Amino acid sequence: MIEFRQVTKRYSRFVTALDGINLSFQKGEFAFITGPSGAGKSTLLKLLYAAERPTSGDVRVEGRSVSRLHPTSVPYLRRNMGIVFQDFKLLPRRTIVENVSLALEVCGVPPRQTRRRVMETIERVGLNGLHERLPGELSGGEQQRAAIARAIVGKPTIILADEPTGNLDESMSHDIFELLSSICRHEGATILVATHDMAEVALWPFRQVRLWESRIEADRPALWQPWEHYPSGLERETEETAEPTEDQESEAPENEEFILSDYNIPPLREDESTDEGPPPILDGGAASEATSADAPEAGDVEEPAPVPKADSIPPARSDSEAEDASPTPDGGVA
Ligand code: ADP
Repeated sequence: MIEFRQVTKRYSRFVTALDGINLSFQKGEFAFITGPSGAGKSTLLKLLYAAERPTSGDVRVEGRSVSRLHPTSVPYLRRNMGIVFQDFKLLPRRTIVENVSLALEVCGVPPRQTRRRVMETIERVGLNGLHERLPGELSGGEQQRAAIARAIVGKPTIILADEPTGNLDESMSHDIFELLSSICRHEGATILVATHDMAEVALWPFRQVRLWESRIEADRPALWQPWEHYPSGLERETEETAEPTEDQESEAPENEEFILSDYNIPPLREDESTDEGPPPILDGGAASEATSADAPEAGDVEEPAPVPKADSIPPARSDSEAEDASPTPDGGVA
């Protein structure tokens, strides 16, 4: 499902972040990417969510090249990914429920479905009763739970966590790893966690890819996957009746660069929606959810802007075309 083929990333003549990486991860796998600071962990994840492009080699997701994805297609890729950062990147003046909602709103999920799914997800990450708080009113561990809620609310097929416990103390860190492994177990998402917290990694039976000076130093297989002891673990929860919700404000206050640049998807043009490109790059994310289980019911007057399907992702283009296009924000994620 995820493949790095002979990937090298050089930031400059003097800085090689990744050197000849060959790696693959299966659907539903939970893996740690470990190694000391500067080993190339973040770069590996950034190549996956197309915040960086490889200098050579290819990064593929579901058989399609992310490396050559046209800049305008990057937001579609990211709709199927949940990304979690060390510094949470929550919007400070928005409540937790608003922070989590935004990830669905920008995908065009109708407000009534948004509200229900957001509340379920907040409960799922153990933040019951805290949903109306601002991020600054939560502990670090709680803020990271909120960030994880935002990452998973769209039911992404891939979750990338870059040092998710870097700002947390030991017990909070353990809770966050437990939450991520439980999400892998119950939601069936592929989860890659970059961390240098070897003491914590040692507690888990999952695969560990260890980077050292831009190369793979070791690839220790998992003893078992999170879902292997849970036969029904890959089943997603059944959708239930939606609750109505109040209108959401639409303007974008300052300090929302991350969310907006990552999720603010330009409306799909008519010709793009019928694009006969290769098969979908991913499946099962917020966009496809919104067109199936979350499709508005007949007579629903709160019809949102049309939501592009996962299979409407414009096809990858050649390198030269990608170069020619106007640059896209790197997601504000670095
Ligand atoms: P890790 O996540 O393991 O700490 P990174 O992937 O962040 O490692 O960095 C790998 C190497 O690439 C380091 O030497 C780092 O300084 C360098 N690097 C990372 N990002 C950039 C960048 N945007 N520009 C130049 N060098 C970078």
